[in-house]
Amino acid sequence: MKKLLPTSTAGSLPKPSWLAQPETLWSPWKLQGQELIDGKQDALRLCLDDQQQAGIDIVSDGEQTRQHFVTTFIEHLNGVDFENREIVKIRNRYEASVPTVVGPVSRQKSVFVEDARLLRQQTTQPIKWALPGPMTMIDTLYDNHYKSREKLAWEFAKILNEEAKELEAVGVDIIQFDEPAFNVFFDEVNDWGIATLERAIEGLKCETAVHICYGYGIKANTDWKKTLGTEWRQYEEIFPKLQKSNIDIISLECQNSHVPMELMELIRGKKVMVGAIDVATNAIETPEEVAATLRKALQFVDADKLYPCTNCGMIPLPRGVAKGKLDALSAGAEIVRKELLAK
Ligand code: ZN
Repeated sequence: MKKLLPTSTAGSLPKPSWLAQPETLWSPWKLQGQELIDGKQDALRLCLDDQQQAGIDIVSDGEQTRQHFVTTFIEHLNGVDFENREIVKIRNRYEASVPTVVGPVSRQKSVFVEDARLLRQQTTQPIKWALPGPMTMIDTLYDNHYKSREKLAWEFAKILNEEAKELEAVGVDIIQFDEPAFNVFFDEVNDWGIATLERAIEGLKCETAVHICYGYGIKANTDWKKTLGTEWRQYEEIFPKLQKSNIDIISLECQNSHVPMELMELIRGKKVMVGAIDVATNAIETPEEVAATLRKALQFVDADKLYPCTNCGMIPLPRGVAKGKLDALSAGAEIVRKELLAK
C-alpha cells in the first residue's frame, strides 16, 4: 500500500436482515436456491458499498456469503460428516455441537473463488480475503480419524494452500488466516501451529496475514475475558516465533482490551493491523478515540507498517452500529495520517 495508514476490517460485517437473522452467529439463511445465491451476491455488493462510503481502503466481502468463518469452509470438504455431531469445547471456552472427521480430508472444489472473483470485478481497490487457519479449523471439529490434532492441521494446511492459490489467481491482494486458537494453545502454536500456517501460505506471492484476537463480542468470550486479569499477555507467548515467520501482516486486538501495547515491539518489522475498534460493545468510538489508539501503537509499529483495523469481525453487531464504527475508523485514521504528513 502506498497510502499511509490504510484502513481495513478484521473480517465479517453484519448481513442485511432479508438475508439472515441479524446479530446472530451461525444465523440460518432466509432465502433458498437461486434466490439465496442472488441474495448473497447482492449482500456482498452492498457490504462493499458500505465500506467504500466509509472510506475503507482495503475492502472485503464482509463474509456475506458464509454462515460462519470456520464452518462454511469445512462444509465443502470430503471426510467430514455433518450429520454425525459431537459436543466439544471450542478454544477451551464454550461447548458447541460440531461435525466429525470420519475419513481423509480433501477439498471437493473451490470454496470462495467465485465470490472473490465477484468482489474483484466490483472494485479496483486492494481486496483482502479471510480463511480460517489450520489450528482454528481443528478446534471446531471432532476428529475420529486422524486422532492427532497436529496431523489434521497439516492436512488442512495443504487444503488451505490450494484455496489460497486460487484466490490469489483471481486477484486477491491479501489473504488472511483467522487463528483465534493461537491465543489459547501456546505450546501447540510454537510446536506446529505456526509451521502449519506457513504451509498454508507456501508459494503465495500476494500478501498474507494472520488474525489473532480475543473473539467476537459474544457472552462466552466476554465471560472468558473477565478471567484473564488486568493485563492480557497472551500475545507474548507467540509473537517471538511469529516475528520470524514468513507471514507479512499480523492482525491483533487493541481497542478497549487489556493487551499491553508494548507487546507489539515483539513483532517489530512486520506489518500490523491494529484493532482500533471494539467489537464487543455497541458504543461507537469517536474518531479521536481511534486516533488515540493509533498514536499509542505508533510507539511500537513504524508508520509505514501500521494498518488501522477492527479488533475482530462485526457480524454480531447491529448494522447501523457497524457502519458507524467503519466511519469512526476512517475518520480516526485520517486524523493521525494528517499529523504524520505534517511532520
Ligand atoms: Zn477475531
